[in-house]
Amino acid sequence: MSDTPRLKGAWTAKVLTLFPETFPGVLGASLTGKALQHGKWALEPIDLRIFGKGKHRNVDDTPAGGGAGLVMRPDVLGRALKMASTGTPNDAARWPRVYLSPRGKPFTQADAERFSQAEGMTLLCGRFEGVDQRVIDHFDMEEISIGDFVLTGGEIAAQTLIDATVRLIPGVLGNMESTEEESFSEGLLEHPQYTKPAVWEGRKIPDVLMSGHHKNISEWRRAQSEELTQKRRPDLWAAHQAKKSK
Ligand code: SAM
Repeated sequence: MSDTPRLKGAWTAKVLTLFPETFPGVLGASLTGKALQHGKWALEPIDLRIFGKGKHRNVDDTPAGGGAGLVMRPDVLGRALKMASTGTPNDAARWPRVYLSPRGKPFTQADAERFSQAEGMTLLCGRFEGVDQRVIDHFDMEEISIGDFVLTGGEIAAQTLIDATVRLIPGVLGNMESTEEESFSEGLLEHPQYTKPAVWEGRKIPDVLMSGHHKNISEWRRAQSEELTQKRRPDLWAAHQAKKSK
């Protein structure tokens, strides 16, 4: 359970993991860490081992049908998920239940926005070959991937989801405007950023950014965003164009 103060009704992440000591991890640093300390959001790592079977608290077994590795048992995960569901709404919009999985739908900024509008969420971190399919089906879990690669466990993926989500909760970043112009906020990548010194290694900050002319600066930034998106992410650019023509 979280040992940090929590504002009544603060957005809460319940994380089911075999490695609760890996939380808050990077989420405990900087602005997300400060917001956690101040109770702007809450974190409840839940140790899956507690729900394990027998003297050794086993959580896994061999795959049905044979093959390499081990699979996390449905009875163990079921007990943990039931406990985690106590006191949370049984409504996916108000309280999403997510299994982090390379097979899942790719995580996007739109998901982070959706999660930040919920009251909290439950995240299941897999290990080994993953979890018994019946758990995913029984609890109607959303499967989410953080990219087309395979991690050793779901903990880093869970921290990624939580980080992207809590920074959208009012009061966490302090300056909400900074999320309004970020990459993906309008379906475009962000323009390049510069700061002092004005010249570094013979490279100048573009003149327009030093002009003080707000309209020109904003037009330059927009053009840069569009150019970068077109070049680097034709998929995002096509979606942006389709949305504009609606
Ligand atoms: N056998 C699984 C497969 O081929 O799809 C991979 C299991 S992986 C070694 C162990 C756990 O790491 C998964 O159950 C999942 O929770 C997590 N994981 C690995 N890659 C991930 C990714 N790209 N996104 C989200 N979670 C991931």
